Amino acid sequence: MRLPIYLDHNATTPCDPEVLEAMLPFFGEQFGNASSIHHPYGWLADDAVEQAREQTAQLIGAKPTEIIFTSGATEAINLGIRGVMMAKEKPAEKDHIVTVATEHSAVLDTVRAMERVGFRATYLPVKPDGLVDVADVAAALTEKTALLVVMAANNETGVLQPLREIGELTRKKGVLLMSDAVQAVGKIPINVADMPIDLLALSAHKFYGPKGVGALYVRKRKPLVALEPLLTGGGHERGMRSGTLNVPGIVGLGRACQVAGRLIESESRRLGSLRDMLESTLLQLPGTRVNGNRDNRLPHVTNLSFDGVEGKEWLIALNRKIAVSSGSACSSITERASHVLLAMGVSEARGKASVRFGLGRSTTETDIATATDHIIATLKRLQRNPA
Ligand SMILES: *Cc1c(COP(=O)(O)O)cnc(C)c1O
Repeated sequence: MRLPIYLDHNATTPCDPEVLEAMLPFFGEQFGNASSIHHPYGWLADDAVEQAREQTAQLIGAKPTEIIFTSGATEAINLGIRGVMMAKEKPAEKDHIVTVATEHSAVLDTVRAMERVGFRATYLPVKPDGLVDVADVAAALTEKTALLVVMAANNETGVLQPLREIGELTRKKGVLLMSDAVQAVGKIPINVADMPIDLLALSAHKFYGPKGVGALYVRKRKPLVALEPLLTGGGHERGMRSGTLNVPGIVGLGRACQVAGRLIESESRRLGSLRDMLESTLLQLPGTRVNGNRDNRLPHVTNLSFDGVEGKEWLIALNRKIAVSSGSACSSITERASHVLLAMGVSEARGKASVRFGLGRSTTETDIATATDHIIATLKRLQRNPA
């Protein structure tokens, strides 16, 4: 089978060869349990985990003690939201969560689950460009609000939320700020030391690490964050996440952080110009539009909507040569227009015919030229033969 050109790097990324190589010994002779403190098998595993913790912390400007390793961002997000709301130290009257309509389902479904056990939630709208209005955030936060959850970069549009301004509000009002930074980490600089973010979720497989491993950053500086663990047991990760550590995965996450730190600047510049190339050609087609704010966006992402094509047929035809999707990998199963685009006021039909392009380390100028030709040809063919 000849595989299509991969332009779906927001869904997942291939493991970097350097990352894979760093992981291999931990499937082999260095197979120890990082909690085995009485022999060198354990020490080797533990040393590797602690090195990965430093590498992960360094990429986001955190301290190693502020990193909790998890099975991915979905778990990190659950630990953050459930952990904060269920914490014994949290005043009982603080029963309110605020989030945004365009968040990933890992956030939205978890907040909905919190509503089912008695907490209250507010889902803020976004403007047509995908940005949340800071005035809406200010109006939603009350003395009862415990937690605000706002993503750093949207997985479908790449739009960057104004976290700095939002963080000033949460600080003033004594509300914790959590950010799903899965799409931003390793792609653009994120520094929790100079941002008022209290909790942050990341996932290795979105930036050239292995699947099934991620982390939650939990601020250890003031204000302190009280957290109730999801998983109890052996008391791993300072009691915040019991379960034998996934040593190879954690080593891979650490190495992926190190590689990303090295490449962040050159890759964002390179991919930014390839993305602009793709976009400027396609925008010459009548009816083609960018979904999302073009000035506050990840450099390697564009979400375009096209006129006169039916979503399903369009996506199937495109995917013969380029691997793309119309929304998140999770929502594409349902064949509904993405909740992100709908929240931005895009119509159901246009939403279904929208395409998310996520460029990545393997993307070349030739790939973009081939993709552009294929998109234009496919569009002409389908528009000429309406279904
Ligand atoms: C992929 C993704 C997640 C889920 O991460 P997993 O590690 O796959 O559980 C959460 N939020 C965003 C924005 C994502 O893109």
